[in-house]
Amino acid sequence: MTRDPRYDILFEPVRIGPVTAKNRFYQVPHCNGMGFNLPQSHNKMREVKAEGGWAVICTEECMIHPSSDYSPEPQARLWDGYDVKCLGLMTDAIHRYDALAGVELAHNGVGSQNLYTRLKPMGPSPQAGITGIPTQTRGMDKSDIKEFRRWHRNAALRAKEAESDIVYVYAGHDSTLLMHFLQKRRNHRTDEYGGSLENRVRLLREVIEDTKEAVGDRCAIAVRLAVDELLGDDGITSQGEGREIVEMLAELPDLWDVNVSDWSNDSVTSRFGEEGIQESHISFVKSVTTKPVVGVGWFTSPDTMVSQIKRGVLDMIGAARPSIADPFLPKKIEEGRADEIRECIGCNICVSGQHTFTPMRCTQNPSMGEEWRRGWHPENINPKGSDDSILIVGAGPAGLEAARGLGQRGYKVALAEATTVLGGRVTGESSLPGLAAWARVRDWRVGRLREMANVDIYMDSDLTPENVLDFGFDHVIIATGARWRKDGVGVNNTSAIAGSEGTNIFTPEDIIAGAKVSGPVVLFDDDNFYMGGVVAEKLRRDGHQVTLVTTGSCVSSWTENTLEQHRIQSQLMKLGVDVITHYKIKQVKKGEVDIVCDFTDQVRSLPAASVVMVTSRQPNNGLYLALAADPEKLAAAGIKSLQAIGDCDAPATIALAVYDGHRTAREIDSPPENPDLPFRREYIQLDSE
Ligand code: ADP
Ligand code: SF4
Repeated sequence: MTRDPRYDILFEPVRIGPVTAKNRFYQVPHCNGMGFNLPQSHNKMREVKAEGGWAVICTEECMIHPSSDYSPEPQARLWDGYDVKCLGLMTDAIHRYDALAGVELAHNGVGSQNLYTRLKPMGPSPQAGITGIPTQTRGMDKSDIKEFRRWHRNAALRAKEAESDIVYVYAGHDSTLLMHFLQKRRNHRTDEYGGSLENRVRLLREVIEDTKEAVGDRCAIAVRLAVDELLGDDGITSQGEGREIVEMLAELPDLWDVNVSDWSNDSVTSRFGEEGIQESHISFVKSVTTKPVVGVGWFTSPDTMVSQIKRGVLDMIGAARPSIADPFLPKKIEEGRADEIRECIGCNICVSGQHTFTPMRCTQNPSMGEEWRRGWHPENINPKGSDDSILIVGAGPAGLEAARGLGQRGYKVALAEATTVLGGRVTGESSLPGLAAWARVRDWRVGRLREMANVDIYMDSDLTPENVLDFGFDHVIIATGARWRKDGVGVNNTSAIAGSEGTNIFTPEDIIAGAKVSGPVVLFDDDNFYMGGVVAEKLRRDGHQVTLVTTGSCVSSWTENTLEQHRIQSQLMKLGVDVITHYKIKQVKKGEVDIVCDFTDQVRSLPAASVVMVTSRQPNNGLYLALAADPEKLAAAGIKSLQAIGDCDAPATIALAVYDGHRTAREIDSPPENPDLPFRREYIQLDSE
């Protein structure tokens, strides 16, 4: 296929100081939950993006010195020669694909936790730390500033030694020392580094100059700056100091990487923000500098990207999440396959890896984080191992991904779906407020399946065990999903709630299906991810009086990990949803519920014409259990293997259902050599070795 000429502009080279990017696709720095802990996993993940056509691929925040230690969150490090070796692996791999490697040097200043190094955190002035640990930050004196500049310079030299092409001076987000010097609210100094904006910019200017002088002959110097903190007068704004800072330093760096902060604003989920959402804040930058400008905005559409370039908003299309969901996004546009882009759904499950200190995962891209340890590639898969035929029952995320992977391998696949729609839970959930983009999980897979002559899809096919036995397939995969429980059993509440068998009790599926609910409604959340909050929002928008009772300490508490908790709670409270935390329902009675406090056992009553239970899910595993119960019948029917996958096996995130479908597609004929250790481990070299 040939490229659509409208997209040619995206493949123009861009000069960045002493280096040239081969096109305009720029993977901006992003966390990944691997960092210094898992260097080989990290490097392979970045390499796959280089293979996928990104012209620039950057590390995440890379700590310049032990006085900035973000443990337990695993960021990159450039403390000594070992880290140079780790980074060198990445730059080598990236250069093999003619791409540029960027390193985001960072010191977290007031945001440093230093839990591992136990060095005292430091910042522009003495103050409480950002992360909430009970350790205050020491105010830096002049010798500290000198030391900081030396550390930064040395880290830049180490980055150059590791063959990096772009070295960052980082004042993006709320978490870096250079940003803390810029902020009035954190910089209370009275010397030449505090007070006026010119003084507050001084350290940033000096560090840019230091870095240029140290490595600028061969490396481009990028500045990442949050031009708006979205805090109004309390912070830097693109109308005020954000603009002035860029004006003061306009031609000093070789590239401006501009964004809004903090991270929850920069990586806003699709529930709360749209593609290109940062434009109004960052568009001024190009009018102030002649240097190339990169910015992000959840860009997945090549038309939007072209428009950003043509309208003079950006020179390079920055992406973190879109490059995670589809490392081959540039290649697909280049090869005229833009319709094959696996578009990010904006769910921020990737972010949860950083917050849970584990390798990043992605709802759309199951190979993310598995490139090195399992050898998975986002585009390639091993060809089929036999001419066996495969029946998959259930077309939710797990069934669709299993069918897609097996279809790509060349297997003859039949996918049977009980209802008249594909997508299972994502189809229902994408109808909830703000979740429309989640339908991309279904749409990308259905799009690929429709191209495969070897995959047949049967709708309206609610299969029984007899049907399955009669069909004569060699392998059977059951992906029949799960349903929310009505009885209130969940994470903290472990037995059925008295009265929960009544007719006025609803589940999320009932609400999605349009059940007639009368108010007032009490929604009981003992799941504490997104579902309780989003269903409460829907019911409130439908005009009901809603009280959300949760066992958590806040609404949708697990969404802290997807950067959404604050927005969700704020939205619900502004809409007029009453929130009661640390309570559970004791009993459902006629027209009311009794709720009990987690701390005092005190019971109170709330009026409730309807109750919605968002507590936990039960697998729809009846079909699987009926088939598994009779191995002889299976053998007589010629069925060589039977397995349950996705929510039918263990209800979990959509990401895990997709992952399970993908793993099944890869491993149905080639299970891991060592089932007790189904992936490669990264070993720490011991001193005695
Ligand atoms: P997962 O997240 O594991 O993919 P979902 O609940 O999203 O699970 O999807 C399960 C799908 O399986 C739904 O579309 C459902 O209609 C379908 N399904 C459930 N039971 C059967 C059955 N007996 N025959 C065919 N399809 C089924
Ligand atoms: Fe996008 Fe969600 Fe994947 Fe993150 S996890 S890259 S937000 S689809």
